[in-house]
Amino acid sequence: MQQITALKELLQEPKEILITTHHKPDADALGSSLGLAGYLKKKGHVVTVVTPSDYPDFLNWMNGNNEVITYDPAVNDELVQKLINQANVIFCLDFSSLSRINEMGPYVREAPGTKVLVDHHLEPENFAQICFSDTNAAATAELVFELIRDLGDQSLIDVHIGECLYAGIMTDTGSFRHPSTSRNVHLIIAELLHVGVNTSNIHRLIYDSHTETRLRFLGYVLKDKLTVLREFRTAYIAITADELKKYDSKTGDTEGLVNFALSIEGVVFAALIIDRNNAVKMSFRSVGDFSVNDFARKHFQGGGHRNAAGGISYDSLPETVAKFLKTLPEYKDQLTKDN
Ligand code: 5GP
Ligand code: MN
Repeated sequence: MQQITALKELLQEPKEILITTHHKPDADALGSSLGLAGYLKKKGHVVTVVTPSDYPDFLNWMNGNNEVITYDPAVNDELVQKLINQANVIFCLDFSSLSRINEMGPYVREAPGTKVLVDHHLEPENFAQICFSDTNAAATAELVFELIRDLGDQSLIDVHIGECLYAGIMTDTGSFRHPSTSRNVHLIIAELLHVGVNTSNIHRLIYDSHTETRLRFLGYVLKDKLTVLREFRTAYIAITADELKKYDSKTGDTEGLVNFALSIEGVVFAALIIDRNNAVKMSFRSVGDFSVNDFARKHFQGGGHRNAAGGISYDSLPETVAKFLKTLPEYKDQLTKDN
């Protein structure tokens, strides 16, 4: 409540506002950012959305997408630094630590504007003056909806803003499957339906708009690259840089792959390990009590949520896989206990 009052006060007069979100934005990161941007523009603010990297093409239908500035240190470093420094308010959406916005992190940390964090990841870093962090929220887009509502402006949520928020909630709940799919989530979705959001169209835009090559890549990965370790109730997929190249893999093409590993009966822990050339990126998923947030933090400089987290390794792909395999016995009891 205090935070809402502070935010209301802050947004009383028209402001220059910058919104940013995490590296390789997913639908929640981009949807919550563009949904919030749409609202703030309606309130008369000047709003710029800056992403720390590019994002998948299947998100480019969102309202406001054309005005997003994609940060690239080799291309627009000066411009982005200037925008960050001149903003009166900086919204940080869907990430809990400034390391998640790469080179933009130090700029935001030092910037004179008021920082507002809206996020649902575990263990938020303390860098924002105003903080809406709720680890029980299913999506940052859910929190953005509540923020607008609690500011007394739900009537400003139109179909364009609604579509962005819907995309975030739909994807972060795994299409309303995960335990995070609360009554509150469904009540918000009912409101979004009420303003005219076409839910099945959004589902199709995000999940059914892949290239043929991407589907062939999926076939190859499932047939040849999936390893199941029954003794640890674990499955993983490791992909080399050459394989990505061979299948002309684009940003977003590997999203969701890890869920196939987790969909195997009896498997409670899944990992996707990808050589991105400059680093090895890892995605972790679990069902039940096993915390991939703890696992990623402890071994792979990462974090996230209990059942969905990510991490990074600067060793080679084979070394990273070996390290991953070496950690498993430590967790054998946790992984094999009934849950
Ligand atoms: P994904 O595996 O889809 O990239 O990410 C799963 C979850 O973990 C997301 O909520 C994402 O924001 C978070 N995450 C992914 N990579 C990292 C990372 O390197 N560090 C931290 N702290 N969180 C991450
Ligand atoms: Mn999210």
